[in-house]
Formats: sequence, C-alpha cells, structure tokens
Amino acid sequence: MTTMVPVTVIKGDGIGPEIMDATLEILKAAGARIEPEFVGVGLEAYEKGISSGVTDEAWSSIHKNKIILKAPITTPQGGGYKSVNVTMRKSLGLFSNVRPTQTFEPYVHSKHSNVDLVIVRENEEDLYAGIEYQVTANAFQSVKLLTRGGTERIVRYAFEYAKNNGRKKVSCMVKDNIMKIGDGMFHKVFKEIAAEYPEIESDSYIVDIGMAKVAASPEIFDVIVTLNLYGDIVSDIASLVAGSVGLAGSMNIGAEYAMFEAIHGSAPDIAGQGIANPSGLLNGAVLMLEHIGQHDVAAKVYNAWVKAIEDGCHTGDVAQKGSKVLNTKEFTQCVIERLGQEPSTLPKATSAGKVAMNMANVCRSCHVQHKKEHVGVDIFVDSKKDLSEIATIAEQSATEKLSFKLVSCRGLKVYPDGGLVAPDSDFWRLRYYGQDVLNGDVYKVLSLIEEKGLSWVKIENLYNYDGERGYSLCQGE
Ligand code: NAD
Repeated sequence: MTTMVPVTVIKGDGIGPEIMDATLEILKAAGARIEPEFVGVGLEAYEKGISSGVTDEAWSSIHKNKIILKAPITTPQGGGYKSVNVTMRKSLGLFSNVRPTQTFEPYVHSKHSNVDLVIVRENEEDLYAGIEYQVTANAFQSVKLLTRGGTERIVRYAFEYAKNNGRKKVSCMVKDNIMKIGDGMFHKVFKEIAAEYPEIESDSYIVDIGMAKVAASPEIFDVIVTLNLYGDIVSDIASLVAGSVGLAGSMNIGAEYAMFEAIHGSAPDIAGQGIANPSGLLNGAVLMLEHIGQHDVAAKVYNAWVKAIEDGCHTGDVAQKGSKVLNTKEFTQCVIERLGQEPSTLPKATSAGKVAMNMANVCRSCHVQHKKEHVGVDIFVDSKKDLSEIATIAEQSATEKLSFKLVSCRGLKVYPDGGLVAPDSDFWRLRYYGQDVLNGDVYKVLSLIEEKGLSWVKIENLYNYDGERGYSLCQGE
C-alpha cells in the first residue's frame, strides 16, 4: 500500500491560490504521494483579527504534519500585523533558508549563462532577531545577535548539503574586517567546520566584494553560506542575475519542521487574472518531494518542467520577444503533457540528497566551559550636556574597583584627546575598567553618575573569555 504523506498547504494571497492550484494539479498528475491539508493563513487570518496571520487550526495542522507547502502571503503594511514568514521561521525553528539559483539560457533570458549556485542563509538570528530600541531622542539601535550554536548549525548544514548534493565548494560571506566579534565568530566557526570536510573546497569573502562577484561572475560560486541579512540581499541579487525571480523555489529547514515556497511575493498587481507563473512554487514543491524522499516524482516533475521551458512554454513574465505567451492553465497543461519526458539540452534533475544530520544537537562546542572574567563596564547615558561636563561627572564617579577610561560617541573616543563630536549628540558611552568586578561595583558607579545629574539608559558589562577580550575597543582607544 502506498503511504501518503500529509502536507499542510497554505494557498496564500494574491496570485497564491492560482499558482497553488496549478502546482497541486501537476503534482497529482505526476503521482506525488501527498495528502494536502488546506489551512487559512495570511489575509484570511488577519481579517479575523489574528495579528500573527496564523489561525489556531493552521498551527494544529502544522504541528501535526510538520511539512508545509506555502504560497506567497501579503503582509498588510502598518497596523501591527506580523509577517507570517518571520513568525513561521522563528516559531518552527526553521534555521536554514536554502535557495538554489540556476539559469535556463537560451530559453529564459538572463545576464549570465551558466549559473548554478545555492545560497544557505541563516534564518533566525542576526538583525532579524528584531531587538531594537530608541535609546534617546536622537539615537536608534538595532541589535545584531549571533550565537555560536546557531552559527555552527547553519555552517554545518551548508557543508552537509554540499556533501549530499555533489557540490564541490562552500563559500562564506562575512564582514569581519568591521564586526570582528560577531562576524569574526561566524568566520572562525566556518574555518573550523570546513576543516572537517577536506573533500569540499572552501573560501571566504568580505560580503561587499562577495556580493559584487555574485553579480559579476556568479559562475564561480557553488554553495554560499552566510548570515541572515547578507543572505537576504545576496539571494535577491543571485536570482535577478540568473533571471529566475519567477522560477525559483526555496526551502526553510529546521530540526523538526520544513516549509517550501516560491521566492517571489503575492504579486497583487496580477492577482485573479490567471496569468501568473506557477514555476517558483512548483520548484519549491520539487524540493519538498526530495525532502520527503519521493525522488522519483521530484525528478519526473522537474524534468517535465524543464522540457516545457525548452519547448517554449512560457508565461508572460519570462516569454521572449515575439514568442507565444501562455496563461497559468495553459502552462500547467504544457508541463503535465511532458510528464515522463526529459530535457534535451538543459541539465535534467539530479536527485537532491536530504541533509540527514541531528540538527537539534549540532553545536559541538556549546558545552565547553570558558573562564569568564568581569573586567569593566560601559555605561550609556542620555544627555544634552557639554562633553566637558559629562567627562567631569564620569571621572568623579570612578571608584576604587572601577577606574574611568574614556567617553565615546557613536563608537569613537571623544574624551580624553578624542575625535569630533557630532552637534546633535545625546547618547554617550562612559567606559570603566577594573579587575574581578562584581555587579555591586557597577551599581555604585551607576548611582554616583545619577546623583551627579547624568541619566544612564543602559549598561553593557565587559568580559574576557579565556583571557581574550569579549568586547570591541572604541575607535581611537
Ligand atoms: P512580488 O514578488 O509579489 O512582485 C514583484 C513583481 O514580480 C510584480 O510585478 C509581480 O507581478 C511579478 N511577479 C511575482 N511573481 C510572479 C509570478 N509568479 N508570475 C508572474 N509575475 C510575477 O513582490 P512585491 O510586489 O514586493 O510584494 C507583494 C506582496 O508579497 C507584499 O505584501 C509582500 O509582503 C509579499 N511577499 C511575500 C513573500 C512570501 O510570502 N514568501 C515574499 C515576498 C513578498
């Protein structure tokens, strides 16, 4: 008896229902052994007043099935609505966003001809942790949070993905010339894990030149692993360069759950017209079939789809000048008619290997004990006073345990002998150093500062780990 795999299906908004119907029709014709369970997520839920965009029934289905096929969702602007994508990624622990990008020249126009790369983007941390503050009238902070565990998980996933899918090289993109502690840790972990996979080549780029190279010579890349924000940007660059915005699918993988989708949005401008290209979602569904082990059906669908593209079956978004434009239904039929055929010139499906690793317990170094020493404190104050007055109070608030070192503004030392202060400054950092500092020592300095008329708004303790500085020096320190 054939075992059917239950899949939670989200039809989405805008063109979502049209491309989902097309995708499911092709999967059914190809003999996919899946049992769709439809749930309302997105506008339907927002209209019921559910600000997360996900109904209770949808959560129950997701928790039961653990596999989600999702069409794009419209996030209403303003009004406190949360992005469903971010909610799902975070609540389901979908730590890895995987986006294969290919070109289909000469059938689909692109800026480069032989692109075949995969971007593995960390999906839960970085600036997307959503930790932001307005700390003074003039100063705004978005916290970039990385963890060693999260980094090990994504980097190891990228190498396992490469190994399981016959990929030759993994490239890392970071900005550790500037962010030496956070991005520096990501790079260090990358090098450590790369050494465990000697059969796979590895290299690293500073993210700005790395992205420029993706735009200028994408063929040199194979697998790219990077942080959340850089991954977001480089994924869009890669799909634009390859001309595959309407064609590419992606997967979001966690230890327990997995979600598959198109990379594009809900295209409200063409919704309801029956002209949308279902290819992105269909390719997302192919990744899903691979993930659930239905390699035969995945290959059948992918090969038929590529053959249709080769045979000139094109929707308006990818049609070349002068060629016939198909609507969604006609394109769907084109693919169905080619099930069982293989492409003539473009590469046919290769069976993608599921990444089988125990992702829940992947951080090998997370349980290592470190020697942690409390060696100082940064006290941030909100003040429109003159720098000289602030510095005097800071110096007078030093204690036997914590000696005053400097005042900085926007990361730059401004006292003593410091750089220029911006005219609108109201957010200052007072740095104190000591040995074997206790939080009680910090409280003393805080109350002295406050007594002398400075309002502190936050503090950051300074620690050394195994003798290494766990904080950055100020510019000019
Ligand atoms: P979009 O990707 O929806 O559309 C950009 C352009 O590409 C439009 O001109 C559109 O007509 C065209 N396009 C996109 N997909 C197409 C397809 N399959 N066939 C033919 N043409 C297609 O981007 P947008 O306009 O910035 O976003 C619209 C909405 O989608 C927003 O509410 C946004 O929040 C949401 N969105 C959702 C997801 C998701 O659910 N994963 C991703 C991105 C954007």
